[in-house]
Amino acid sequence: MAVETVTTDCAIAGGGPAGMMLGFLLARAGVDVVVMEKHADFFRDFRGDTIHPSTLEIMHELGLLDAFLKLPHQKVREIAGVIGDERITLADFTHLPTQCGFIAFIPQWDFLNFLAEHGKRYPGFHLRMQAEADGLLMDGDTITGVQAKTPEGLLEIQATLVVGADGRHSTLRALAGLEVEDFGAPMDVLWFRLSKRARDESETLGRFQAGRIFIMLNRGDYWQCAFVIPKGGFEALRAQGIEVFRKEIVALNPALSDRVGEIASWDEVKLLTVRVDRLKRWYRQGLLCIGDAAHAMSPIGGVGINLAVQDAVAAANILWEPLRQGRVAEDVLAKVQARRRLPVEMTQALQLFVQKRIISNVLGMTAQPRPPFVFTLLNRFPVLRRIPARLIGMGFRPEHVRTPEMPPSR
Ligand SMILES: Cc1cc2nc3c(=O)[nH]c(=O)nc-3n(C[C@H](O)[C@H](O)[C@H](O)COP(=O)(O)OP(=O)(O)OC[C@H]3O[C@@H](n4cnc5c(N)ncnc54)[C@H](O)[C@@H]3O)c2cc1C
Repeated sequence: MAVETVTTDCAIAGGGPAGMMLGFLLARAGVDVVVMEKHADFFRDFRGDTIHPSTLEIMHELGLLDAFLKLPHQKVREIAGVIGDERITLADFTHLPTQCGFIAFIPQWDFLNFLAEHGKRYPGFHLRMQAEADGLLMDGDTITGVQAKTPEGLLEIQATLVVGADGRHSTLRALAGLEVEDFGAPMDVLWFRLSKRARDESETLGRFQAGRIFIMLNRGDYWQCAFVIPKGGFEALRAQGIEVFRKEIVALNPALSDRVGEIASWDEVKLLTVRVDRLKRWYRQGLLCIGDAAHAMSPIGGVGINLAVQDAVAAANILWEPLRQGRVAEDVLAKVQARRRLPVEMTQALQLFVQKRIISNVLGMTAQPRPPFVFTLLNRFPVLRRIPARLIGMGFRPEHVRTPEMPPSR
């Protein structure tokens, strides 16, 4: 088999939000980068489309916000929930101290294509599609590069640093033997689309009823729907047949009775097996993991993409200079974990709290749930809705772009 050998400053496995943002920022700072993505394009099943105010702020700092918001999108300024019979506005993003007081719903492939297009402006940015990282190059205990399968043959990349941004099932973190702590999740999520009609309410809404949670995200001409089920419950639901599933949806939202037939079969329904985990150590000499590869997030709050982007910004801020100098010591990699550990741990702690106290309870209920007291306060004192908006929209200790725009290093 043909072997192609490449030398670069930074080899990134994974062209998701973390890998593409890191590749973009490093190339912009004059670092030579190869981003490997195993698929031929970014156009895949729904994987979350929520671009939060913190990520929009980064786009603003990069001077790309106006161009980015020219992409077709929906703006969500508030998030509401119906708990039992009571409607509660859970978060109001309009008061955030950011350029954008809203979440932009933009298909993830549009976001990734946008970064790829803008990355091409920099000579150090090399995106290799259909390159699947499947081996590490070692010199003793030090990782010195990565090996990937491509349609043309084997690709060997010698790199000052290898970054595992290859998602929640990361190959690189497994190959590097990094230890994962699994925090568990009580639920899985079924994703599907239903068309949107002119007379529909347009807001993004979650419904919490006895034993069921159903979320509808407004995507312009369709609803992206999330149906939350107890962990491992998909096979039992499937066995009852698609008609039973359709009836459950109508019971949660009778207005959908005219279109549940659009779910023609289980092929239209995608299962997200929810995981919450975190690496104990995100690095070893020559390798760093970021994004879902370092910490898979629960879908609560829809923060996964945004935390991946925040990791990339923090990593680029810390790494661009050592990478240009051709050496990244282990203690520099430790600084990236130290910078991101607290925001990730606090976000996961909140998600685990909601999973345990709210999701598990609602999924186990046979009677209609009532809103917890703190939620009722959000209706009585609207100013309080700014707190969840800040946690979801900006997160803990938001990052800012500190990397320069520089000519390439080689
Ligand atoms: C169904 C679903 C719905 C979600 N909804 C939301 C949401 O609404 N909001 C939100 O913020 N988050 C959501 N998420 C989570 C979000 O998608 C992730 O948290 C986020 O994409 C993490 O970014 P990442 O770059 O770390 O990893 P990923 O986005 O997983 O990207 C990893 C990339 O690496 C590639 N890859 C994997 N292995 C290799 C390899 N060996 N070599 C080369 N390439 C490789 C993959 O093809 C992928 O493109 C959802 C996830 C799923 C699955």
